[in-house]
Amino acid sequence: MNEPKKTRGWIDGEHAIIYQRCEQCGHSWYFWRSFCPGCGVSEPECLEASGRGQVYAASMVHRAPSQELRTHVPYLIVIIDADEGFRLMAHGESTLTIGDRVQARFVEFGSRLIPYFEKTDEPG
Ligand SMILES: [Zn+2]
Repeated sequence: MNEPKKTRGWIDGEHAIIYQRCEQCGHSWYFWRSFCPGCGVSEPECLEASGRGQVYAASMVHRAPSQELRTHVPYLIVIIDADEGFRLMAHGESTLTIGDRVQARFVEFGSRLIPYFEKTDEPG
């Protein structure tokens, strides 16, 4: 699970959420960078996340941003506080509310594979 990753996870079609962590200051984040936004150290490590976290915010989308996604509306966009300490935006089941514990799985959305969060009873 904590092996350094060379791919970008689901963006490359894999069933994985990749994040970065700085060994120097312990900061972790989601969007790929070549240096730590906390302390500036270069080449932070890339790790695979557990996919577990908590809903920080949730917003229902009623208008599709593209023709391809029109059949999916309405759908829920969530912001997840991952257990590893970073925050990401993703899709989730429509009944999710703020504070719910969630676990990611991966689904086809349009022509892409995306992380999709569902409620879990597992404690944090
Ligand atoms: Zn750092």
